[in-house]
Amino acid sequence: MSARVKRLAILGSTGSIGQSALRVVDAHPDRLQVVGLAAGENVGRFAAQVQRYRPVTAALATAAGLDELRKSGAPLPAALACGTEGLVAVATHPDVDIVICASAGSAGLEAVLAAVEHGKTAAVANKEVLVMAGDLVTRTAAAHGAAILPIDSEHNAIHQCLDGRQLADVRRLILTASGGPFRRHTVEQMASVTAEAALQHPTWQMGRKITIDSATLMNKGLEVIEARWLFGVEADRIDVVVHPQSVVHSMVEFVDGSILAQLGVTDMQLPIQYACSYPERWAAPVPPLDLARAGRLEFEEPDHTRFPCLGLAYRALRAGGSLPCVLNAANEVAVEAFLQGGLHFPGIAAVIAATMDAHTPAPVDSLSGVRAVDAWARRHAAGLLPALTMRT
Ligand code: MG
Repeated sequence: MSARVKRLAILGSTGSIGQSALRVVDAHPDRLQVVGLAAGENVGRFAAQVQRYRPVTAALATAAGLDELRKSGAPLPAALACGTEGLVAVATHPDVDIVICASAGSAGLEAVLAAVEHGKTAAVANKEVLVMAGDLVTRTAAAHGAAILPIDSEHNAIHQCLDGRQLADVRRLILTASGGPFRRHTVEQMASVTAEAALQHPTWQMGRKITIDSATLMNKGLEVIEARWLFGVEADRIDVVVHPQSVVHSMVEFVDGSILAQLGVTDMQLPIQYACSYPERWAAPVPPLDLARAGRLEFEEPDHTRFPCLGLAYRALRAGGSLPCVLNAANEVAVEAFLQGGLHFPGIAAVIAATMDAHTPAPVDSLSGVRAVDAWARRHAAGLLPALTMRT
């Protein structure tokens, strides 16, 4: 039995990762306790969570959401707030040990920074935060002795393979990519794919934004940048291999040529639980991997011509400074436009590339600096949309 209960704040509790995190809590009621919950707009689901888990601190995106929560009849937590301020309050509450950062897109940046400034362990599912401000977040965490543990399955796998090893012994990190639903599409077919088709991911059930990112391979690009900051390994030592079965979650190659891999079922409860249990391991509430049923495992090179977003991410990481933040912001704008039917699929990469071309990378060492670059890139990307708008 563990020494004491770990107390969690879950940012993004009504989303896919948040709900998986609560299932992990349900499986380990003697080891994990929810003390904070924060969500965006899904007040109905949030009210049910508040009713069930009785957090001492909670937050929603808007004041209107808070009003709806008050009217829901759910027992109200002692601390209740909205917006960025609310997220930060939940992330920094004195009772919180581990902050699970699973709020969508770039919204969680302030909360993650505040959490590590308060010495909390940040279990990060929100890769955008590390792409926008990886240098700032990791330096701040180091300065305050706060741990950052990855929930993203690839980085969680690498964390498991690296645990207890010397970074000097590592030749390269190898991130696996499913290849998404358009792995076999030609350039011509790619031009006419719909949002509906792009939302059908072959191996993982996830939120809408990350599912589109998986279809463009931008998700893997963002993960390359995320890996650089989580593990302190430069771009030249981070590779991507397409592995359609998503059984090998990622690998580490050591200087002697040995490759260690982490394998498992595709269920986010496993990396979430690892981040909560670390450095212990607990029995998991999901069936183990059946290797004989998994059958063949395939690996192939990613195609940079059909999937230009991956190369754009490497370009941003190599240039450094503000360019990864520009890449991330332009991608969020382009993906949203694609989901709304206002941009064709290849237009996503086009918007990102054009926004990056218009930007001169500069160092960013403050939250306000990151936010200024992010806002510029969003404006610029949005301004490109009318000329690229799909005519039907
Ligand atoms: Mg991932």
